[in-house]
Amino acid sequence: MIKQATWIKNPLAVWTGTEFSAPNGLVVCGDKIVELVTTPEPTSSYSKTMDATDCVIIPGLVNCHHHFYQTLTRALPAAANKPLFPWLESLYPVWANLDEQAIAVSTEVALSEMLLSGCTTASDHHYVFPPNLENAIDIQATVAKKMGMRVVLTRGSMSLGKSDGGLPPDSVVQTEQTILDDSQRLIDTWHQANDAPDDTSPMTQIALAPCSPFSVTKALMIETAALAQKNDVLLHTHLAETEDENQFCLDSYGVRPLDYLAEVGWLSNQTWLAHGIHFNAEEIKRLGDAGTGICHCPSSNMILASGICPVTDLEVAGSPVGLGVDGSASNDCSNLMQEVRQAFLMQRLRSGAEDITADRALKWGTQGGANLLRRNDIGSIEVGKQADLALFKLNELRFAGAGAPIDALVTCGAHRAEHVMVNGAWRVTDGQIIDLDLDALRQRQIDVAHRLVNQ
Ligand SMILES: [Zn+2]
Repeated sequence: MIKQATWIKNPLAVWTGTEFSAPNGLVVCGDKIVELVTTPEPTSSYSKTMDATDCVIIPGLVNCHHHFYQTLTRALPAAANKPLFPWLESLYPVWANLDEQAIAVSTEVALSEMLLSGCTTASDHHYVFPPNLENAIDIQATVAKKMGMRVVLTRGSMSLGKSDGGLPPDSVVQTEQTILDDSQRLIDTWHQANDAPDDTSPMTQIALAPCSPFSVTKALMIETAALAQKNDVLLHTHLAETEDENQFCLDSYGVRPLDYLAEVGWLSNQTWLAHGIHFNAEEIKRLGDAGTGICHCPSSNMILASGICPVTDLEVAGSPVGLGVDGSASNDCSNLMQEVRQAFLMQRLRSGAEDITADRALKWGTQGGANLLRRNDIGSIEVGKQADLALFKLNELRFAGAGAPIDALVTCGAHRAEHVMVNGAWRVTDGQIIDLDLDALRQRQIDVAHRLVNQ
């Protein structure tokens, strides 16, 4: 098949992930970036052009933590104004009603929100498997494929119910063997490994993700690490989100969360953790030495009043840091560009105005995320990398008179991309998702959410 080349021309600026480059845009051929144009015309051949007037081009954003299904329970009165544990206890019974239709529509909604915010790679952590919903991740993978979105779907799990000392009700936990068997099945069915011999880039990957210390048995953590190693897939979980969790680990396991993580064989560069807030200095050093990744979720951390992730300390120690919107019941939206701004603002409070710059925050949302997911083919704009791009048009009132384009994206509050390309294909043009009736999707989501909550 002959690959078509497109010259994306006349941008306001191109930010590669480290610098401003390519004043005359870039050329994409097939699924790859083939030229950053510094001459008046590209030196490579092209058959199409795309006008990027008034647009800032950045690498597609990479989201490292989400729970798509939670878009059905955002702003739920029963869960409002509560910290993590009571918030979860209010929501578990509602989530126990999830069915196939709920997973399909919430995945489509979450991915649509992500795309429109400039996100091209989305990770999800699905861990609620009521009876008859064993195919939840298969549904997610099918929807993502239809939408042309790059995804890392983590097979979440809960195996420690209330009757065994855990937090979730027994009705939503599974046996360890069921979880392990399904994890292997999903890897065999969906996982595309990095470095494919034909130079194609994985669009669907699977990682393994027991939910949290208070909802999963120690044996499952150990067995899951072994399964991940055998299949060369990544590990993901929530850790050090709240002081309540620290206390739970001390009471149940006699150790703090990081010691628990080490005990179960997870302290490695094959693991990335959601939140990572309540670590002490010695624990941060150990995380950095191991190269364990941290997904910072500032909006969720502020809504649940969980605390402030020590991002700069973790980076200095050697941990890669990326960003996540977290589930839409603790955010309550799926906008990664807004999350870049939240990270920028929240980390300034902790580390000061000079250390936390707009491009540092954007780097967490791009390369940082790619590093967490162990992907070296996305996260920056370079010749040979995948053509995952987000174009933001600075023609809204909020940008009028802005001086520096990257600072403008973050500080003026960019929140909706004009054009988005994933793996060389346009998925958003002129602010609209290709081939999607957004109003119809919105109505389906409202109907399912209403049914779910009122069952
Ligand atoms: Zn989460």
